Amino acid sequence: MSEHTSDVVIVGGGLIGAWTAFFLARRGQRVSLIEKGVVGAQSSGVNFGNLRLQGRFPGQYPLSLRSQALWEDFDALIGEDCEFEQTGHLYLAYDEDEHARLEGYAEVSESYGLTIEHLGRVDLKRRWPWLGERAVAATFSARDATANPRLATPAIARAAARHGAVIRENTPVTAVDRSGDGFALTLADGEALSCGALVNCAGAWALEVAERFGETAPVFPAGPPQFVTEPFPYLIGPSVQAIDGSVIFRQIPRGNIILAGYPRTAADPEANRAPVPPAKTLAAMRALARVAPMLAQCHVIRVWSGIEAYLPDMIPVIGRSETTAGLFHAFGFCGHGFQIGPGVGLCLSEMIVDGATQTPLEPFSIGRFRTKQAVSEKFRKEFD
Ligand SMILES: Cc1cc2nc3c(=O)[nH]c(=O)nc-3n(C[C@H](O)[C@H](O)[C@H](O)COP(=O)(O)OP(=O)(O)OC[C@H]3O[C@@H](n4cnc5c(N)ncnc54)[C@H](O)[C@@H]3O)c2cc1C
Repeated sequence: MSEHTSDVVIVGGGLIGAWTAFFLARRGQRVSLIEKGVVGAQSSGVNFGNLRLQGRFPGQYPLSLRSQALWEDFDALIGEDCEFEQTGHLYLAYDEDEHARLEGYAEVSESYGLTIEHLGRVDLKRRWPWLGERAVAATFSARDATANPRLATPAIARAAARHGAVIRENTPVTAVDRSGDGFALTLADGEALSCGALVNCAGAWALEVAERFGETAPVFPAGPPQFVTEPFPYLIGPSVQAIDGSVIFRQIPRGNIILAGYPRTAADPEANRAPVPPAKTLAAMRALARVAPMLAQCHVIRVWSGIEAYLPDMIPVIGRSETTAGLFHAFGFCGHGFQIGPGVGLCLSEMIVDGATQTPLEPFSIGRFRTKQAVSEKFRKEFD
C-alpha cells in the first residue's frame, strides 16, 4: 500500500475531472477530486449541451466516437438521467463555398464510419418546413445528441463517489509541488494531500498548475454567448447550426429555444466573469431569424456565457506532462469538451492505471507548443 494519502489527485471538478475520477475509482484507485467551487459550476455546467460528431478536427474522431458511446450508455454507467437525447445535428450552408466546406466535413466524418445525410433545398423544405428559404444545402448526422450540462457533471461525481472517490468542494488547491516520485498538495483549508499521480483538469485556471512544473501553453479565456427564449410548442427536433458559425440552436422538450451566438467573447477567469455585451443578443437573434424566420419575434428571457480556455489551434491539451512523470494535463477544450469529456476521462484513467491508452492522443500533446504556433485564419473570426 502506497504511503500517499491518495493514488491520484485531480485538480478541478468540471466534467473532465468528474469523468476521470469516475473511471479511476471504478478501477479501484484511491482518488481525490478537489474543486475550488462547486462541482460542474464553471463551463461544464453552463454550456450549450451539444454532443456533436459532425465537423470535428479529424484527429479527434477516435476520441469523439469513444465518448459518444459512453454518453449513449450514460444512464447504465452513471445510474442517473442527464436528459441525453439523440436529436441529430443539422449543418446548413448558405452558398456554394459553405457547401464545399460541409462536404469536406462530411467526407472526414464518413471516413470514420459516421452516417451523414446530404440534403438539398427540396429535402430541407420537406423535412423541416420551418427553415428559411435561403440555405442551399445541409448535412445531417442522426447520431449527434444533446444532454443537460447542469445535470451531467454532478451526477458523474456522485457516481465516482459511490465507487469510493473523495469529492471535495469549496476547496481550492493552493500549492502543488513535486515530492519524491509523487506530489504534495496544500488545500485552502490547510489540509495536506500527497499522491502518486496528479491530473490537472483545472479548466481556464490550468496554467497555474502546469507552470509550477515548468510547462505552459498559449491559452486564452473566452466563451460563446448563450441565450434562452420563452417556450414555444415543441417543433424543432435537431440541433441546427449555420456553418458560417453565426448561430447554433436547439429546442428543449419544455419548448424553450437555446441558442449560442458567435463570435465568442473574452472572459475573465480572475474575476470569474464571462460577460455578454447587449449587442450580442441582437446579433444572435438576427442570425436565428435568418435560419428560422418564424423565431424572429421570440423573446430572450436569459443570457449567459462561461469561462473556457482556448488554444490557437482550437484543440485541447490532453496527456502526459513532458517535464514531470506522473503529471497529466487535460485542459483548453476550446468550446467542445462536453462531447469528448467521457473519452478524455477514460483515456486518462487508462494511461494512469495501464500506462497507455488505445486512443490516439498525439495531436493533443502539450509539447506541440514548443514550436511557434500561428493562429489559424479559420479560427480568427470565431473571436472578438
Ligand atoms: C458557454 C459555453 C458553451 C459551450 N458549449 C459546448 C457544447 O455545446 N458542446 C461541447 O462539447 N462543449 C461546449 N462547451 C465547452 C465545454 O463546456 C468545456 O470544454 C468543458 O466543460 C470543459 O470542462 P473542464 O472540466 O475542462 O472545465 P471546467 O468546467 O471549467 O472545470 C474546471 C474546474 O477546475 C476548477 N479549478 C480551477 N482551479 C482550481 C484549483 N486551484 N483548485 C481546485 N479547483 C480548481 C474550477 O473551479 C472548475 O470547476 C461550451 C463552453 C461554454 C463556456
